[in-house]
Amino acid sequence: MRVRNKSNALPRLENNPFVFIEPKNNKNKWKDIFKNNSPIHLEVGTGKGKFIFNLAKKFPEINFIALETQPTVLSFLLDKIEEEEISNLRLLLADANNLTEYFGKEEIDKLYLNFSDPWPKKRHEKRRLTFKTFLTQYSEILNKEKRIAQKTDNMNLFEYSLFSYSNFGFTIDKISLDLTNSKYESDNVHTEYEDKFITKGNKIYYVEVVKTII
Ligand code: SAM
Repeated sequence: MRVRNKSNALPRLENNPFVFIEPKNNKNKWKDIFKNNSPIHLEVGTGKGKFIFNLAKKFPEINFIALETQPTVLSFLLDKIEEEEISNLRLLLADANNLTEYFGKEEIDKLYLNFSDPWPKKRHEKRRLTFKTFLTQYSEILNKEKRIAQKTDNMNLFEYSLFSYSNFGFTIDKISLDLTNSKYESDNVHTEYEDKFITKGNKIYYVEVVKTII
């Protein structure tokens, strides 16, 4: 996501108790941080945070963590939580490459990938958030059901991700090649990119996969 750098973004994030920066000490402690036993959902690559902010308001019985690597981008979500405090949302300034340093085994109950960068060049495959190294980490931190929900307008990334999930033993639970006009839309919470792409007339691809270990 391209945004003009804000020099005060990092200090603001550092000084807010709802924000964690590369929090290796919090591994296996997220239930204590939220002070309850509710499920924990994680969005990887949150961007400006419209999706997770609205989801957290819609489902107060679930805890949400917004993970984003760019301070300036995450500071837009900070603006939102400073205006309206939400007890079930925490922000994480960190890189998804190191997820298993931040979360313990089965500590997360659902993972969201919304409009992840497609990295179309083959030599950048390793950066795609559905590359096998990411799926390995998601599998470790997700609970027994291992549910991942993904939305994208990029058909190549979508196809790539479906192959990647399948190769990794995930099965499809829900799928739509036109989420906006599907039966799933009534429950769908939009992201910033989603609204932008819908306005352009793009179709939104959606999949939820699971990898149930019995
Ligand atoms: N999910 C938002 C939406 O749908 O509006 C933002 C989509 S934007 C295209 C992708 C976001 O993922 C960017 O803000 C980028 O900084 C973040 N991102 C990309 N790779 C990441 C990584 N390895 N760890 C954390 N965030 C990442």
